[in-house]
Amino acid sequence: MAHIIDGKKISAEIRAEIAADVAKMKEGGKTPGLAVIIVGENPASKVYVRNKGKGCEEVGMYSEIIAMAEETTEAELLAKIAELNERCDIHGILVQLPLPKHINERAVIEAISPEKDVDAFAPVNIGEMMLGTAAFLPCTPAGIMELLKRSGISAEGKECVVIGRSNIVGKPIAQLLLTANGTVTICHSRTKNLAEVTRRADILVVAIGKADFVTGDMVKEGAVVIDVGMNRRADGKLTGDVDYATVEPKASAITPVPGGVGPMTITMLLRNTLTAAEKYGK
Ligand code: NAP
Repeated sequence: MAHIIDGKKISAEIRAEIAADVAKMKEGGKTPGLAVIIVGENPASKVYVRNKGKGCEEVGMYSEIIAMAEETTEAELLAKIAELNERCDIHGILVQLPLPKHINERAVIEAISPEKDVDAFAPVNIGEMMLGTAAFLPCTPAGIMELLKRSGISAEGKECVVIGRSNIVGKPIAQLLLTANGTVTICHSRTKNLAEVTRRADILVVAIGKADFVTGDMVKEGAVVIDVGMNRRADGKLTGDVDYATVEPKASAITPVPGGVGPMTITMLLRNTLTAAEKYGK
């Protein structure tokens, strides 16, 4: 039977550590602050933004949610970011994606000061990650590495297979596993003989966005399986990219959905905000 990697528990432990560091920082007269900008009325985005605000509150950080209308122009959004870049009480700035189609996402991300880019989506921070010198790592991949570390699982010398090559999950987690001395293979929709590749994996990370896609026959006995997927079933229930029923009996460790990778993402955002305040805050 697989060890269930409990993302809720690990996330709670890390939030307690962050809260203690925030309390210490406040004694010194500084409070870490996060600004979250949301443009438009996307219901899922609204939930994510609310949860980010709640997360800040839980660890004692200051947060500001800036809701802008759907018809906000790119220039107006850039002006708001410029204002936040200058503020001493704001150490992290996050623009909730996706943005309305008339706004250039890349221009917006690049407008955030790299020292406040707590999502770590800006090209300069992606470059720093490649060099192994980043102050902030992208939140979901950083959360996965923390789950592995706190579960006593090392990537060193292991065959690591990542399915998915998105800029926010697949590519950065592959890089972090490489930095951790794994031997990394990245698979995607054009990969031939996918199951042959995934069966080589000691550590398999799945981030494709297709419910129950990875089945037991695609996994080696004893593999560590990290399921990043978050898919809504017709009945409203959340499910991963991994078919838990057939994969769990073969895995040595596995993340459930919900309660695995999901809880870690906001926790890593909070940690990045704390780091921003420690490293760059006035
Ligand atoms: P994405 O941008 O849609 O990328 C999906 C990737 O999967 C692409 O690289 C695609 O290949 C690959 N893929 C699709 N079908 C495939 C197939 N049949 N075989 C092999 N590869 C295939 O998705 P994402 O943003 O990385 O998100 C992936 C999942 O993680 C989603 O369910 C998302 O909701 C979830 N997620 C969770 C969190 C969290 O906090 N837990 C955070 C972010 C994302 P191509 O590049 O060739 O098209």
